[in-house]
Amino acid sequence: MKALSVPENIICEANAMENNPGLLSQHGRKALIVTGPHVGHSVMMERLKNVLDGENVEYYVFDRITGEPTDNMIADGIAAYRNAGCDFLIGFGGGSPLDSAKAVAAIIGNGGQIADYMGKEISNPVPPVVAIPTTAGTGSEATRFTIITDTSKGVKMLLKGDALLPRTAIVDYTLGMDAPGNVTAATGLDALTHAVEAYISRKATPETDRLAEDAVRRIVKYLPLAYRDGSNCEARKAMARAALDAGICINNSSVTVVHGMSRPIGAMFHVPHGLSNAMLLVTCMKDLSREAESRFAALSRIVGDEDNDFVAVMARICKSCNVPTMEGYGIDRLQYMAAIGKMSADAMASGSPANAPKAYTEEDCRRLYVAAYDCVI
Ligand SMILES: [Zn+2]
Repeated sequence: MKALSVPENIICEANAMENNPGLLSQHGRKALIVTGPHVGHSVMMERLKNVLDGENVEYYVFDRITGEPTDNMIADGIAAYRNAGCDFLIGFGGGSPLDSAKAVAAIIGNGGQIADYMGKEISNPVPPVVAIPTTAGTGSEATRFTIITDTSKGVKMLLKGDALLPRTAIVDYTLGMDAPGNVTAATGLDALTHAVEAYISRKATPETDRLAEDAVRRIVKYLPLAYRDGSNCEARKAMARAALDAGICINNSSVTVVHGMSRPIGAMFHVPHGLSNAMLLVTCMKDLSREAESRFAALSRIVGDEDNDFVAVMARICKSCNVPTMEGYGIDRLQYMAAIGKMSADAMASGSPANAPKAYTEEDCRRLYVAAYDCVI
């Protein structure tokens, strides 16, 4: 059987940073902490700094990841890394800081500009990256991918390579207890999309199937609880584990048509990644209900759905997390319809739809984009 590709060190427990001395100092003497302005001034950051101080590791905080990462943010991060004389990176926050830390490391190790690597494997050795998520969803801590927006072309670039897989992943649900409901929902629905897409992917393996099934079971039970009551430790813990496992799933079995079509919506209309997935999830999965029939039936059994309608289960989860329609979110109908040609071409160019259990064309993507705009969950 094929072995799973995972980070060298994975620690998934409460207070993981504090309880595992040497976990950070093994990677170098000065860290570039890549984060956003909110986490950069939080209690979570104080916890990280205390651990680094205790291990005699110097650090420079680069807290300029202000949204989903762009080529310009990465260029600033590279300059900060070099100017501060760092020798490893810590991505600390949601998926954006983690993806950014991986992209900065890629350029430090490989040279050039981030846009040079679109469609190529990033393979040269890079400085170690420690990934510490503070939200439960993107799974970036366990993947060999990073998504960076090319601002000159308005495209979310999917960059990949074994060099991008973090050396260490530290998953501590206590870091995510303060995440607001809308963030909990969007990131949790991203994790659900990862698990389901990896499960129906042509690249699915018995190893990723097992992890995906566990992740789906946890998310269906605990995401609505974590969304309604962020202080529910049991729900936060289950979601952190599910997001990590779903990240391992997509690292090994890939995503499919939902992620392929979601990235262009994010790039053109600035919708957070998890939310644009959720807006497409039910429409795209309905479209695959015949080809993925046995997979959905298996997931229905796993979550105890007596109606044997897993697409309806996903719709209920989206509804319980108050996923808006595209119109309700503020995406202008005319602008959206005018963008469908470019979005469909970009979706196909990403390669993700090719992993789905049926063949997709640009025309299929256009049809699904139209249907998803009017989809009321
Ligand atoms: Zn995702």
